[in-house]
Amino acid sequence: MSDKQQIKRNIEKALANENLRGALGRFGNDYVGARERAYTGKDFQELRDRIAAVKGDAAARMEELARRFTESAQARGAKVFRAGTAQDAKDYIKNLAQEKGATKIVKSKSMATEEIHLNEYLGRQGLDSVETDLGEWILQLCGQKPSHMVMPAIHMTRDEVADIFSKETTQELSADIPKLVGVARKQLRKKFLAADIGISGANIAVAETGTLVIVTNEGNARLTTTLPPVHVAVVGLEKLVDVFTGVKSIIEALPRSATGQKITSYITMITGPTPAAYPDGTVQEKELHIILLDNGRTEMQADPVFKEALQCIRCASCLNVCPVFQLLGGHVYGHIYTGGIGTILTAFFNGFQEAGELQNLCLGCERCKRFCPGKIDIPKLIRELRSRVVEKGGLPGGQKFVLEKVLPNRKLFHRLIKAGQLGQKPFQKGARIRHLPMFLAGLTEGRSLPVIADKAFRDQARNLSVPEGSSKESTPDSKEKVGFFAGCLTDFVYPQLGQAAYKVLKHLNREMVFPAGQTCCGVPAVLMGVRESAVQLAQQNIEAFEQAGVDAVVTCCPSCAQALKERYMELLETDPAWHERAKALAGKVQHVTAYVADKSGDGSSLRLKQTGGRVTYHDSCHMKGCLGITEEPRQLLAAAGLELAEMEGSDLCCGFGGSYSVKFPSISRQILDKKLHSMEAANAATVALDCPGCKLQISGGLDSRGKELPVKHTVEILAENL
Ligand code: SF4
Repeated sequence: MSDKQQIKRNIEKALANENLRGALGRFGNDYVGARERAYTGKDFQELRDRIAAVKGDAAARMEELARRFTESAQARGAKVFRAGTAQDAKDYIKNLAQEKGATKIVKSKSMATEEIHLNEYLGRQGLDSVETDLGEWILQLCGQKPSHMVMPAIHMTRDEVADIFSKETTQELSADIPKLVGVARKQLRKKFLAADIGISGANIAVAETGTLVIVTNEGNARLTTTLPPVHVAVVGLEKLVDVFTGVKSIIEALPRSATGQKITSYITMITGPTPAAYPDGTVQEKELHIILLDNGRTEMQADPVFKEALQCIRCASCLNVCPVFQLLGGHVYGHIYTGGIGTILTAFFNGFQEAGELQNLCLGCERCKRFCPGKIDIPKLIRELRSRVVEKGGLPGGQKFVLEKVLPNRKLFHRLIKAGQLGQKPFQKGARIRHLPMFLAGLTEGRSLPVIADKAFRDQARNLSVPEGSSKESTPDSKEKVGFFAGCLTDFVYPQLGQAAYKVLKHLNREMVFPAGQTCCGVPAVLMGVRESAVQLAQQNIEAFEQAGVDAVVTCCPSCAQALKERYMELLETDPAWHERAKALAGKVQHVTAYVADKSGDGSSLRLKQTGGRVTYHDSCHMKGCLGITEEPRQLLAAAGLELAEMEGSDLCCGFGGSYSVKFPSISRQILDKKLHSMEAANAATVALDCPGCKLQISGGLDSRGKELPVKHTVEILAENL
């Protein structure tokens, strides 16, 4: 079975698992609030700056810190071994067990040991290695792998746990959590007392002092590291920090971002082995062995883009807020590290080919980036991974033709859209398409589609007296010449958004021009990893707006705005002349809603009609997460006399993600279901939003469920109320 087929099968299995969705959904809903409360009074941006500085510096000096850590830990009596590969680490532990005549091992939770599949290996060597973290023990008993970095058994229900414990104890146990925890405690206590070796991981390793810091919520790590006469800590090289003060920032963020706690129950610091008192009255020096694990980390450190991933503190916040993870859980990824950051880690720890298909699971909503305390631009790393995968393996024929030949050729692209407009007729019912056949069927799974407009906005613009861009100055009575960037959806599907923008801008005494040389913003090419096409599209758009000589550039689409504001500079960063031109354009770009709010005193100078009624607002991922725009649309809606009825999770993704909704329609549909549910619960007469992609997805979802709830862009509502 190919990787692609395997992932599809895993997805279908996860989507059919009601228990999984229930558990993940409940946790996902509670997590954001708990995290927010835990961060009350803290400046998260300042904290993540500190963590990025500490971890970024440690990553840059990884070899030096590893050397210093080794010296410091050895000076305090620990034995330090540098393991280049997973096998080196496993062999070290096997040899140590043989040398000590050890047969019984207890383990506390450690992703590094999961990464190297230590338990399976030790089992094959005839060693009895028992997990002592509650979640990990449950999984070991039923032969499963962790599905989450912090809460390994989050996908399981209490009933499933009761069944597993009943088998283990050969007693009929009820699904009473405190009783089940009591059973685990009793069973595991015997294991701790009998163990010859305790194996742990570590959250932080301090080079200055040789100290290991372990952050946990269960007492098992303390028992693991203190009771057996030998303690082995398996520590990834990315856990190193330079000096002790670096620990503070990480400890401040880790529990808050991981579980929404201000502090965990235990923070254990171990600096060298300590003497231990034994039941027979003897006091013996324990042995402490520290394995510094590389396994791909130095390769990551040497990579100019991916070294950023070493700033990860393994809090799993990015998983907790990922709409795909919330739906599917971690097993779909097929490897120990899951979600977006897991895909990157898998590429380095298990090989790029292993992550080739996994990177497709990322929806591109960019929510993780906002929450990451390590300040890692996970979406950027995923895009880079995608582009390297495509560079190496290419794209399927059809996608290759569209992205490499059609998109960068504006005239051909527009001719094909016109052909599509004729081709849609047999499937069109009024203004919608409800079913498409064969390989196009995914496009209408769980949603209907709007039709391609009879007349694109670029053709309508002339009749609206929107001039094509020219190098002439603004007309004397206009305050500013504003270039309108349509983007594909506004241009060809929702030209009414362009008309609405024109009407509102005119009201604000702005001259709106439409540079005809503009084309697709390039986001589809970026998201599919076709960098060369994305660069060509960026250059075409930069030229078109330069020639128009505009003072400002507005667009109705937040994804296009982000492309023009940020992505072009990223794409053109190796070409100084083009980079400068991209920067000049970026400085002029605004989402139309933010522009109007800015120029109209939050709508007050528009003197809008006060129509009244309830409206609920959907925060599109790229509008809030990437452009940081949340208040402006709400203020403009209030200026139109509308009562805002906030929906729960207004900033949760609608599941569109461009081609994602075609590639993974079943995931997209279920994310959409959740969104529609909270939208309807808001009991509003209109849904307002600021993204044509979200408009397509949400209005299509409502239509296919027979709901008549108008979905309008903020600029449409403003134009109606002028
Ligand atoms: S990438 Fe960021 S959010 Fe995700 S686990 Fe690492 S530190 Fe936490």
